Formats: sequence, C-alpha cells, structure tokens
Amino acid sequence: MPERVAAETMVVVLGAGINGAALARELLLSGVRVIVVEADDVACGATAWSTRLVHGGLRYLEYGETDLVRESLAERDRLVRLAPHLVRRLGFLLPVRGRWGGLVAASARLLGFESAARAFRGRGRGGIAVGIGLSLYDALAAGSGWPRHRSVVTGSPGLPAVDARAFPRAAVYADAQMLFPERFTVELLVDAGRIALEQGAAFSLFTHACAAPTAGGGLRVSTAAGDVVDLQPAAIVNATGAWVDRTRAEILPESAGRLIGGTQGSHLILAAPTLREALGDHGVYAEADDGRPVFVLPFGPRLVLVGTTDIPFAGDPADAKADESEIAYLLAAVGRLFPRVAPARASVLQHYCGVRPLPAADGATPASVTRRHMLVRQKDAALPAWSVVGGKLTTCRSLAEQAAAEVLGTLGLPVRATSRERPLPGSLADEVRAACVAEAQRLLAAAGAPADRVAAAAECTVALFGSRGIEVCRRALRLPPTAPRLIAGTDLPTAAVGFAIDEEWVGSLADLVERRLMLSFAETLSRTTLRALADEMIRLGRLPAQTADEEVQREVERLRDRHGKQVV
Ligand SMILES: Cc1cc2nc3c(=O)[nH]c(=O)nc-3n(C[C@H](O)[C@H](O)[C@H](O)COP(=O)(O)OP(=O)(O)OC[C@H]3O[C@@H](n4cnc5c(N)ncnc54)[C@H](O)[C@@H]3O)c2cc1C
Repeated sequence: MPERVAAETMVVVLGAGINGAALARELLLSGVRVIVVEADDVACGATAWSTRLVHGGLRYLEYGETDLVRESLAERDRLVRLAPHLVRRLGFLLPVRGRWGGLVAASARLLGFESAARAFRGRGRGGIAVGIGLSLYDALAAGSGWPRHRSVVTGSPGLPAVDARAFPRAAVYADAQMLFPERFTVELLVDAGRIALEQGAAFSLFTHACAAPTAGGGLRVSTAAGDVVDLQPAAIVNATGAWVDRTRAEILPESAGRLIGGTQGSHLILAAPTLREALGDHGVYAEADDGRPVFVLPFGPRLVLVGTTDIPFAGDPADAKADESEIAYLLAAVGRLFPRVAPARASVLQHYCGVRPLPAADGATPASVTRRHMLVRQKDAALPAWSVVGGKLTTCRSLAEQAAAEVLGTLGLPVRATSRERPLPGSLADEVRAACVAEAQRLLAAAGAPADRVAAAAECTVALFGSRGIEVCRRALRLPPTAPRLIAGTDLPTAAVGFAIDEEWVGSLADLVERRLMLSFAETLSRTTLRALADEMIRLGRLPAQTADEEVQREVERLRDRHGKQVV
C-alpha cells in the first residue's frame, strides 16, 4: 500500500533555507516523513542576505531565459495571494537615459555574445530596449491581472524623484517585495509541522545541529541539546545553498566536481529620510556605471534598502561581508540617481552580504550565470541523494514542487498533493487585516499593555506574524503580572518571545533578534532591548542567567563586526 510506505519513508533535507523549508513542506504534503537538519538557524544563509524581491527577473529576458521568467512571474502572483502578509506588490520606476541605448547590447546577449554585449553597454538601456523588455514581461504575465507597464516622464507626481536631467523618461511596472524572507521560511516550516499533523506523517527540524555519514549508509545527527540521533533515510536532499559543495564533501564523500560557483552580493540599509521621501512607495530599478542592476527600495516606512554587487566568492559563505569598496559603489549608484538627496556614508545604518548559490560556470561573467535552479542527482551515492543548485526566493515553491516530484518518483511514491494553492499559516488578506489588528488591540489592552502603545503594538505584531499575531496576543493574557507587557524599546509584546520560542525553533538570542522578531533591522536597537529579550528567555528557562550578559555582548559584537550596526 503506497500510503503505508509513504508514512514509513523518511527523507532527510539538509539546510533550512527557503528551499530546504519549501521542499520539506512539499514532501510532507505527500505523506512522507521528513527530517530537516540545519547546521545553524532557519534562513540564516542567502535567504536572509538577498534583495528581498519576488520578481519575474526582467533582466533574465536579455539572456533568453523566457521559461525562468514565466515560471517566476507565475510564482510571484501565487506568493502574493498565498502569503499576502509577507509578500506585497511593489511598483517600480525604471529610469532611462535616451531612446536607443542598450539595443545592440541586449541583442548580443540574447545571441550569447556576452563580451560583445559588455562592449556595447554604453550609457545604459534606452526607452526602446526597456519598452520591448517590459512588453514581453507583461505578455509572460498575461492573465494574472497585474498592471501592465507604462512609460512616464520623470518627475511625474507620486513617482520616485530621480534626476530628471540624466533620466528624462522612465517606465513604471510592478513586482513584489518579501520584506522578511526569514519569516517566510519560518512559516513554511510551521506549515510543514501542521501538514505532518494533518497527514499523520512525522516531521522534525533540528537546528544548530550537525549531520555526518555513518558506516551503514545512514546519517548521525548531533543535536543542539547534545543528543545523538541515528537516521536511516530513504533519500537525502542537500539544500545547503552556497555550502552545497562543502556538504557534499562531508556527507556524500563519493561525489566529485564542483556544483556551485558563488558570487557575493552586498546590500545597504540606509537611514536617509530625504531619500526615503524621494522614493515614496516605489522601488527604483536602475543600472550602476558598470551596467550591473541596482535596486533602491523602500524598507518599511523609514528606511531604504540598496543592492547589490555581484563578485565571485570563494571561501566560507558564513564569512561574506560587505567591504568599503562595495559600500562606496552602491552609495555612488544611488547618488547618480538621486543627486539632490545623495546618501552619505554616515547614513548606512547597517550592511549585509550574501553568497548566491549559482551553478558553477567557468569563464562566464557573474551576471550572465543562469539564475535557474537545478536538482542534481548524486551519482554513486549509497542511497538516492540530490543537491539543489541555484534558485531564487521567488521560485522556492516551484523548485520544491519539482524536486518533491523527482524524489517521490525515484522512491516509487505518488505525489498526493502540492502546495500550489496552500496559504501560509499567517496568511491575512487585506480585507480582514483591519479586523485582525483590532482584535490584537483588544487582547493586548486586556493583557494590560499601556493604553497609548496598544495600537502600535497590535500593528507591529500583525505585521510580523500575520493572522498568527492573534495567538501571540492571547499569550500576552497568560504572562505573569510582574512581566513587562512590551519588550523594552520596541512595540512588540513580550509574549512574542515565548511564542517564537515555542512555535518557531528559537535556539539562541541571535535567532530571536535576527530571524524571528526582526529587531536587528530596527532603526534603533538598544542593549536594553537585547537584555529584555535575554531576561524573558531566562524566565522561560531557555537561557541560563549566568550566560545572559555574555550572550547579549556576543550579539552586540556580531551586529557591529559583521553588519556595521551599532547597538546603542
Ligand atoms: C545577494 C543576493 C541577492 C538575492 N536577491 C534575490 C531576490 O531579490 N529575489 C529572489 O528571488 N532571490 C534572490 N536571491 C536568491 C535567493 O536568496 C537564494 O537563491 C535562496 O535564498 C537560496 O536559498 P537556499 O535555501 O537554497 O540557501 P540558503 O538560504 O543559503 O540556505 C542554506 C542553509 O543550509 C545551511 N547549511 C550549510 N551547511 C549545512 C550542513 N552541512 N548541514 C545542514 N545545514 C547546512 C545553512 O546554514 C543555511 O541555513 C538573492 C541571493 C543573494 C545572495
């Protein structure tokens, strides 16, 4: 009976980035038992250090990747529908200099002559090349109901105020933004847990854990709690992103060759109020001087996100860090677009850098390497094993669907269901959002939160947890009377700490700050806030009191040394 076999068949997924999480969820939908082993924390790799866009990839059209763009556009539409609390439409302004620029370069690229394309790069893409590209983009998204692009005169009201002399015209089009892919990934895993309950299949996630091969062809997992678990999986999927080759060497030693040729991409988060105002509610997609794409994006109501660079990277992706030349390059690109509100170095609140898990392609320029994903079967492995190569946030779900079909097919199991129409757990449609915020307010008020802070706290909780924010606020009713109702220095309820710990696999203070409560992106983060979080972890028995100071200090130093962020 396939059902029984499926229930007993175990697949181990290595890596809990967006791809590993989406795959775990997809396999569970077919009743397979899934164990995810993550060396560090959920979404602590490229998933967190991306440009945070859910997009078709307009640029890929120049490389003839029409199928990838079509797939990405379909997923863009789906993610906005299935996770509206985390993925939101964003209008873009694409400024152009003249009419004809970029046509020769784009044609050369399409024909595969990348070096000729670079020689003809000139002063950027002109209106005609952009218009052709966006018309194709619209055609590939036909039927989705997304607005078609339009051509505008720079300086039109309601659009980003880029330099009208340098860019007299522009195109306006729509894509989407996933402000916090970290939270999206956590929700994929929360949903995996829910599906396991629905299906009667088992699901476990070990974070801060280490997997090693055993002599019998299985895996030995050493957990954060110091336990050792021996697994005899039916299949292994290596979804460790830019670490794929290192994982293959450690866990699938019979594998040869290099699959990944990573490039690093750096980003800036700017506290630059006049620039933020000039952006309004649109992003800007432009080119830096060397023809690389640059995005200038609203990052919440007050900050600006700028990215990115594309530089070949060798080494441990965990060490990737934006350097001063990249920071200067990105600031200069913004300055050319917005000379009157050009940001200074001092407005860089923090920076981050990720390594793209791109397929190894010797000799290709970083920009020309395909952004397509691949599932590479491991030849000669003792048991069926695959590595995930490439991929985007945008296509995490379709990648998972394709990968699950291949894994299940190899194991002789049917695909019983897919995630195509399955909302994420916190999914909250715009029409009911106001009612959800009102209920959160009512609960927080009943829990004794200060009256003048209740509205902001409810908004903040729903923004982060979507409809699950109600569960957070209900939890606030059960806090002991002595516990502060809100986390010091923030608008978040203290109950969010316990909720994240119990429901979202928090292993350390850093997990809580950087990938659950997203406080590492707060405009101002104070030691007082970190200490308040640590105190709540102590109260909940998740942090020994004697190590709290050390843990707070470690986080202060990590944010400063890796991301240039000052904790005040
Ligand atoms: C600079 C940059 C900008 C990008 N911008 C966008 C964008 O705007 N839109 C978009 O759609 N995509 C974008 N991407 C692409 C996207 O972010 C990545 O392709 C995607 O996040 C990859 O996810 P992943 O799960 O495969 O890898 P990761 O997120 O890197 O996850 C891999 C996980 O494996 C873990 N791990 C490592 N070794 C082991 C081991 N031995 N055992 C267990 N676990 C292990 C790591 O700790 C990590 O958590 C961008 C990427 C970068 C780097």
